[in-house]
Amino acid sequence: MDISTLCLHGGRYIDPTGAVVTPIFQSATFAHPGVGQSTGYDYSRGGNPTRAALETLMAKLEGAEGAVAFSSGMAAISAAMELFAPGDHLVIMDDLYGGTKRLFAEVSAKYGVTFTQAATPLEVERAATAATRGVFVETPSNPMMKAFDIAAAAELAHKIGALLIVDNTFLTPYFQNPIALGADIVIHSGTKYLGGHNDTLAGFLCAATKELTAKIRRTAMTTGAALSPFDAFLIQRGIKTLPVRMERAQNTAGELARWLGARPEVTRVYYPGLAEHPDYDLMRRQARGFGAMISFAVKAPEIAVRLLQNVEIIQYAESLGGTDTLITYPILQTHADVPEEERLALGIDDKLMRISVGLEAAEDLLADLACAFEA
Ligand SMILES: *Cc1c(COP(=O)(O)O)cnc(C)c1O
Repeated sequence: MDISTLCLHGGRYIDPTGAVVTPIFQSATFAHPGVGQSTGYDYSRGGNPTRAALETLMAKLEGAEGAVAFSSGMAAISAAMELFAPGDHLVIMDDLYGGTKRLFAEVSAKYGVTFTQAATPLEVERAATAATRGVFVETPSNPMMKAFDIAAAAELAHKIGALLIVDNTFLTPYFQNPIALGADIVIHSGTKYLGGHNDTLAGFLCAATKELTAKIRRTAMTTGAALSPFDAFLIQRGIKTLPVRMERAQNTAGELARWLGARPEVTRVYYPGLAEHPDYDLMRRQARGFGAMISFAVKAPEIAVRLLQNVEIIQYAESLGGTDTLITYPILQTHADVPEEERLALGIDDKLMRISVGLEAAEDLLADLACAFEA
C-alpha cells in the first residue's frame, strides 16, 4: 500500500458505531469483564485504545514490528536508554539534537553509561570498544544537516553486537525508513512533522523486533511517560496530512535554500537537497526526499539578530515541522547547553540560523526574509 494511503488507514480503529475517526478513550482505567479477565485494556499507563491505534499506524509507517508512543520525544529517548546498563558504551553521532546531548551528559552518564562521538562510519569503527552496545545517529542531523550512512552504521553496529538507533524526526517515515536499512530502533519526536501543527508534544520508539518492542513497552509502562489519549488523537490526525505537508514544505524549502544561497548576507546554506551539499548523493541513496529544514550562516552576528527581530510572518521560536514557518538561533535555543568548544567545532556559532519551512506561500516567506535582511 502506498504510504499516503497508509497514513490515512494504517491506524484505523474499528468501532461498533462506525465512527470513521479513532475515538478518544479518555479513561484512566478499564473494568474487567470477569475475575482474571481483561478487555485487552486495564490501565491507560500500560495501554489505551486511542494510543494503540496510533502505535499500530507508526509501526506500519516505519516497517517496524512494534511502536510505543511517549509523552515527548525526550521521553522516548530516555526510555531507549533503559535498554543499556552501567558499564555500557555508546558511539553517538557528533551532531545531535541538543536535548539528546543533555540527556546523555546529565542523566545517562550518571548511571554509568559512557559515550564517544563520531562523525562518520569510519569514526564509529574506531570509537567502538568491547563494551559498545549501541550506536546512535540522527540523519540528517540537527542543526548542521549532515547525513549519516544508515546501512553502513547498521553493519558496523551488528558486527560488534550493538543496536543501531536512528532519530528519524527530520525526514519522517514519509521520506526515510531506517529499519529497512538495518536500524534496530527508530526514534521520533512526534511533536514535529508527525503532529505537524506545533500544538502537541509526542514521541515514539519503533522497534525492528518483537523482543525489543516488548522491552520498550515494559519500560514505558513502568516509567510512565505515556502519551495521553487526546494527544494520541491529535498526532493521528496530523499524520493523515503528513504526505501533502512534507511534499509542499520540501518544495518551498528547496526554493528558499537556493534563494538564501544567492543573498549577499549569507555565507553558507546547509540543505541536503542542494546538489552541492556534501551528502546529497547519500541522501538520494537512503531517503526519498530531503525534508524542509534549512540551516544557514550569515556574515555577521548582527545580521542574525536583525533577521530574528524583523521577520513578521516567520516566527522566532524553537521547534520545527509544523504548518507555520519558524526561525531558530541554535546558539541561544536548541544547542545552548552544548559546551562551547564542541559547538564551535561543529559550526554552531553566533552566525548560524535554522529555518523550519512551513506551508505558507514561498513568495511570502521570501518577501518576509528580504524585508528582515534589509531592515
Ligand atoms: C525535538 C527533537 C527531539 C526531542 O523531542 P521533544 O518532542 O521535543 O521531546 C529529539 N530529536 C530531534 C531530532 C528533535 O528535533
